Amino acid sequence: MVEAAASALPVVAPRSRVGKRLSIIAPCYNEQAVLDLFFERIDAELAKLAVDYEIVCVNDGSRDHTLAVLLKHHQRDPRIKIINLARNFGKETALSAGLDAASGDMVVPIDCDLQDPPELIGQFIDAWEAGADVAYGVRVDRTSDGFLKRATAQGFYRAFNRLSDVDLPYNAGDYRLMDRRVVEVLKQLPERNRFMKGLFAWVGFRQTPVPYVRPERAAGTSSFRYWKLWNFALDGITSFSSAPIRIWSYVGLIAGVLACGMAGLIVVRTLLWGRDVPGYPSLMVVILLSFGLQMLAIGSLGEYVARIYQEVKNRPLYVVMDRYGFDA
Ligand code: UDP
Ligand code: MG
Repeated sequence: MVEAAASALPVVAPRSRVGKRLSIIAPCYNEQAVLDLFFERIDAELAKLAVDYEIVCVNDGSRDHTLAVLLKHHQRDPRIKIINLARNFGKETALSAGLDAASGDMVVPIDCDLQDPPELIGQFIDAWEAGADVAYGVRVDRTSDGFLKRATAQGFYRAFNRLSDVDLPYNAGDYRLMDRRVVEVLKQLPERNRFMKGLFAWVGFRQTPVPYVRPERAAGTSSFRYWKLWNFALDGITSFSSAPIRIWSYVGLIAGVLACGMAGLIVVRTLLWGRDVPGYPSLMVVILLSFGLQMLAIGSLGEYVARIYQEVKNRPLYVVMDRYGFDA
């Protein structure tokens, strides 16, 4: 299927991995339980690929012994490098830190809980050699997620694609291989609010899907809870669409037209049948409804203003406390 998708691409000069370097970027947050297994699996896979590589691990302010475990592996193999962030910045930002530090001609962000099977990297490189600038993993079945997570994810993709100009491919995550020139574009994007999935899609280039089945987390627990996912979705939609804020002019317009119609109706009715019993219940409904709508409108405005505030402060995206292995 990969071959089929790759051959549908326009003809380009084939590339070769010979003499090229692969950078793996692994953001790690409280992953001490899974890291040994992760390195075992990824080392085994990379050994087969006949390509020079580095693994850039970004310790995203873990509260457990993640850094110690990473250092142990760094001592064993200097190709395993570490960026130690000063606190927890979140996965999207950790990924950006990794992208900034990676030096490879091909760059692969990967979750270190083994939900992104390392065995796919070979297929990614094949697609890259066939001319793809981005080869992205697509989950063919999400049965490892619960029903609610699948339903909300589906709803999010639908809303996002309807509201924004960029098309997010369904069920594609951050797991992908990117050519150096794609990474250079990503590094230039100035926003502080890094909704990576959206940015990955925004850059364009020749993108090829690679289907895979996503397994359960190998050990440890997911740090993404529903409230975090909801905020993540809001970040995504607000950074790629202004529809939620623009829609209110139209809501206001419709409400205004309805109010005029209603006023006309009342005048005519009063002239024909005289004054009616005052309509308190309907009045309450209208007041409460318009109050709710106004709050929603102000709230949407606030979502954008808050994000503008974040952007204009222009703080650095992340703070690096230590780096291991980058001098060589
Ligand atoms: N992660 C991170 N910073 C965070 C949260 C998560 O670097 O604040 C990393 C985590 O170590 C893992 C990846 O992001 O490698 C995905 O996290 P997780 O498995 O918790 O998310 P899920 O797979 O449930 O979406
Ligand atoms: Mg995971």
